[in-house]
Amino acid sequence: MATVTPKFPGTERLVVTDPPPDIDDVPRVSCSRCGRTWDLAYELDELAVGNRALERFALDHRRHTGHFPDDVTPWLVECRRCPDEDAFLSEGPARRFAATHARHTRHALDVYPPGSDEPDPVEPPELSGDE
Ligand SMILES: [Zn+2]
Ligand SMILES: [Zn+2]
Repeated sequence: MATVTPKFPGTERLVVTDPPPDIDDVPRVSCSRCGRTWDLAYELDELAVGNRALERFALDHRRHTGHFPDDVTPWLVECRRCPDEDAFLSEGPARRFAATHARHTRHALDVYPPGSDEPDPVEPPELSGDE
């Protein structure tokens, strides 16, 4: 029976069961239309957008190039009055954002499901009474 010695002692992979909170492994996004891959270090470090880095990247990418990167088709929320818009990777936050904006500003918004051109309108709630 032979003893197996690791070829490079000390390089055995450590099993990390509880990863540190700071992100070591910077997420990457690629876009086949642009033929490029980006890491999200800029979004994470400079913009400090944390777990919204991917959404932020996707939105910025579309703003500058007119399309979304690969595998990132977020929910889009556009206000009909404000120039701003926001993107969300899931429906819940997108609808919450729209409802909150409508509630505070009384603006109507359009919520676009991923990849859809058919908006789902969100109307501001009626004021009860004092108008
Ligand atoms: Zn692109
Ligand atoms: Zn608005």
